[in-house]
Amino acid sequence: MTKAAGTSPAHPALDLAIEILADLVAFPSVSLQPNDTIVSYIETRMRDLGMRCVRDAHEDGQRFNLLASAGPQRPGGVLLSGHMDVVPASPDGWTGDPFILRRDDGRLHGRGAVDMKGFIAIVLASLPDIMAQADSLSMPLHVALSFDEETGFFGASQLPAFFDSIGLRAEIAIIGEPTNMQPFVGHKGGMELTTVVTGTSGHASQPAGMVNAVYYAARLVDFMRSCADDLAAAPIEGSPFNPPHTSLSVGVIRGGEARNIIPDRCEIDWEIRAHPGDDPHQYLGRVTDFITHGLVPEMTAIDPRAGIETHMLCDAPPLEARPDGPAANLVARLWTNETPQVVSFGTDAPFFQKAGMDTVIFGPGGMAQMHQPDEFITEAALVEGLQFIDRLAAYMRGGY
Ligand SMILES: [Zn+2]
Repeated sequence: MTKAAGTSPAHPALDLAIEILADLVAFPSVSLQPNDTIVSYIETRMRDLGMRCVRDAHEDGQRFNLLASAGPQRPGGVLLSGHMDVVPASPDGWTGDPFILRRDDGRLHGRGAVDMKGFIAIVLASLPDIMAQADSLSMPLHVALSFDEETGFFGASQLPAFFDSIGLRAEIAIIGEPTNMQPFVGHKGGMELTTVVTGTSGHASQPAGMVNAVYYAARLVDFMRSCADDLAAAPIEGSPFNPPHTSLSVGVIRGGEARNIIPDRCEIDWEIRAHPGDDPHQYLGRVTDFITHGLVPEMTAIDPRAGIETHMLCDAPPLEARPDGPAANLVARLWTNETPQVVSFGTDAPFFQKAGMDTVIFGPGGMAQMHQPDEFITEAALVEGLQFIDRLAAYMRGGY
């Protein structure tokens, strides 16, 4: 069925969802910070309702994924997922404190309100009802909440091994990122890299015997541009993406101190966004070959201390689109028969796919409000999310 827009009546759990959202926003759970306090808050709520909770710690022991389960203990069922971290918020551009939820004319403003504590709040606000009839769940319900999504999906990347270790195998994963309640089934990957060119420093009047790091970085950037052009010249037939191919791009170049000093260091920030089915490592390999065989021998012949190193900051896989899979079918059955789309931003979703779950990105609120000053979710969007969870719960009790 397709829901008519703008006709959402209030929902009995809306006040609770707003109260929980205010609590969640008040934890300034910016990525890469210890997240024990927000995890404890959520864990306590779920455990008090009778859910089985288990944490999955990062190796630093300070950041945690959280898994909570209810219903029969067997494979299958549905997993709901969200990330608990938020992007930073400098008070500039905000009307109020970004970490105090502000209610204004049907909008709820706060960092993370839409991305994606709003989704976590509607799940938590729905759980009292679900757990009051937990015995009637005919399949397992899991809630998996991750850390550090915004900085490179670090939390979710360790979930497949964690799920393996505890034998969790859900059939369907719903990643509740804000999509205005439209299903998205595919996205590109994201590999983020920094390449550091090391040369030798000297006075510009004496260039002999010096390795000018900016010269070699410039040649490398030009090679990267030619790789990007090759990719653009070979679009993937039938691709739903725009552009319909893997893209490679240089975003930042930093090097040099003064006009009269030969620069001994230059850094290049670049990225590869892999089209599903295309392996970004082959393009990284092309660049690395050019570095190893085309640039470094020349540099070290001048000065053996010179060199080039590449650091990978993030290697997020693409989400392979399965528009006819069980996850997309479930959303179609419960909410909308709109054709599933592909999306340009990365999410935790590929790691759930990797763990064997059929995965869809689907949640309340608008993408345009993500990462913005005065970020907000509307009360109407929360109501839609609550209604969806109601239908999901009815389905899981075998009654929808
Ligand atoms: Zn998000």
